[in-house]
Amino acid sequence: MKVLHAVSAGLLPALCAACGRSCRPGGLLCTRCSRRLAEAEALTGSGPPGLDRVWSSAAHEGVARDLVAALKFRRLLPVADLIAERIEWLAPASLLSGTVVPVPTSPLRSMGRGFDPAGEIAAALAGQAGLELSPCLVRRSGGRQVGKRRAQRIGHPPRVRPRGEVPRSVLLVDDVLTTGATLSACARALRSAGAIRVAAITFTRRL
Ligand SMILES: [Zn+2]
Repeated sequence: MKVLHAVSAGLLPALCAACGRSCRPGGLLCTRCSRRLAEAEALTGSGPPGLDRVWSSAAHEGVARDLVAALKFRRLLPVADLIAERIEWLAPASLLSGTVVPVPTSPLRSMGRGFDPAGEIAAALAGQAGLELSPCLVRRSGGRQVGKRRAQRIGHPPRVRPRGEVPRSVLLVDDVLTTGATLSACARALRSAGAIRVAAITFTRRL
């Protein structure tokens, strides 16, 4: 906290969240990384089973990948706002509707981190886009996805269940789309509880 105060007071140089070089006070990205992120193209196309539409704001590489790491592993929470701004700016307007539902993290992982990256992005996006936010999915503890081989992740989809009332029109939000198994599990749980439309937005997508 003291460091944050020092940064906001201009006593310490601000460092780019992606590359670590100094950047303008109050900025999260240096000019070069800002430009590179702006050049990254959004990805759309057929989504995993159970989803009506899926859209990702960038491939999981370069500055976008570095920002996910900064949020996830270095807990740079303002990065969630930056990510939400990019999504709101670039996502098709027809997709930015319904109730925002964060893809749930397993309880052990969010406890270990003390916060939930997808939840932070979802809350920021809902606030910026003026959409309702409903964390109506929970995930039961299971194996960690990080470090598992792709085949193992596909073979063991996460166990997700609805909690409380589920909206009819849902916009799922997650940081990274990898195999799509998690999004499919979420879509199944939502539809079993009455959701009619299930679309998804992620910040990045692994190709
Ligand atoms: Zn940079």
